[in-house]
Amino acid sequence: MLEHLNREVYAAGEVIFHAGDTGDSAYIVEDGSVEVCVNTPDGEQVVKQIGKGELFGEIALIDHKPRTATVRVREKAVLIPIHRKLVGELLEKTDPIVRHLLLLVMERFRGNGTPARNPASATESALDLTQRNKLRGEATQKLAMAHDITRALNKDEFALYYQPICDLGSGKIAGFEALIRWHHPDKGTISPLDFLWLAEHTGQIRDIGLWTLERACRDWPTLRRQTEHAAPFVSVNMSASQLTGEGFVEAVSGILNRHSMPSRELKLELTETVIINNPEQALGLLGRLTELNIRLALDDYGTGYSGLDSLQRYPIATMKIDRAFISNMQSSAHSREIVTSSINLAHSLGMDVIAEGIETGEAHEALLGLNCNYGQGWHFGRPAALH
Ligand code: C2E
Ligand code: CA
Ligand code: CA
Repeated sequence: MLEHLNREVYAAGEVIFHAGDTGDSAYIVEDGSVEVCVNTPDGEQVVKQIGKGELFGEIALIDHKPRTATVRVREKAVLIPIHRKLVGELLEKTDPIVRHLLLLVMERFRGNGTPARNPASATESALDLTQRNKLRGEATQKLAMAHDITRALNKDEFALYYQPICDLGSGKIAGFEALIRWHHPDKGTISPLDFLWLAEHTGQIRDIGLWTLERACRDWPTLRRQTEHAAPFVSVNMSASQLTGEGFVEAVSGILNRHSMPSRELKLELTETVIINNPEQALGLLGRLTELNIRLALDDYGTGYSGLDSLQRYPIATMKIDRAFISNMQSSAHSREIVTSSINLAHSLGMDVIAEGIETGEAHEALLGLNCNYGQGWHFGRPAALH
């Protein structure tokens, strides 16, 4: 059964690890319980019981030193191992001061082989019990979910849904936006907003991003048959952290080749965060993508910083006006004004425009009147699995 993959089952009495072993994993207790035994320098043994939903072996996630405790199973236990690789990147991205403090505390905790009496107390002594439990609970939950994401990638639990993008003049489908869904074996379908933020923190977004591109290119011949447009495209979302990973352009180019996909028909949607995070690096990267003939779209236009500078300086072919302005157009003169001036600005810079979130015929008409090129929204079709 899927939900039992990547779990380890231990019988009562089994030792998970000994003090002195090298450690590279922590464990979440899904069921049963274990006892953590620490020998203090004065020969005393401190034993702590760890039960369902709790985490142990966590220090190995942070330093690379031998285990300070022996952990033995009390009653038959189901454990989810969390490998150091999973948090390595999180730690790298942590504020340097926090990281330094964490390592310092860890050093003290390990200092002269003198573990604190309570295996967990050194890092947490400054917090009261409620705060401590809350922090532990949140961290444990996140780790479990990150572990789940890895399994989802390996077990093909992600799916791409496609939403049509229509030419407002002719009403024909011009392209599709690929939107990820997670068909979780226990939790049902999970929206991207509920797991991508964590994948970004752990760096798993890069593998997800490559999977998404691979899948969209694989599906493209089927999707393409649903359009008669002169310049059809499939649009794939890219978050800032996946773009800045090493070898991204090469990976994209490899995927296009493998699927014999014309690069002109792939659009990458990015937000201003990519540019704001590192303007110079973005200029180089976006330039290399357009050299491959890939078109770029600026997503969620209007919600962020929206410097005119980014529109002019970067090779962006398409502006996507955020749904918030489109859905308010009918009721708010302010939104209408923003939409009108954004369309005019984009056109004056040689870009085409997609309006997001068109839910009604009136919105369609109004945008057509403003010379908007394309539209996307429930009025034209919801995101759906490939058929
Ligand atoms: P987004 O890029 O702005 O995508 C448009 C979102 O608006 C989608 O939500 C879509 O289902 C929804 N939508 C489309 N038309 C309408 C409409 O007429 N009315 C309303 N109320 N909503 C509409 P979804 O699929 O939940 O995706 C949410 C966000 O998650 C996306 O926002 C995007 O930022 C991110 N995302 C989705 N798939 C991926 C992916 O494969 N990779 C990355 N990096 N991000 C993704
Ligand atoms: Ca998008
Ligand atoms: Ca958007």
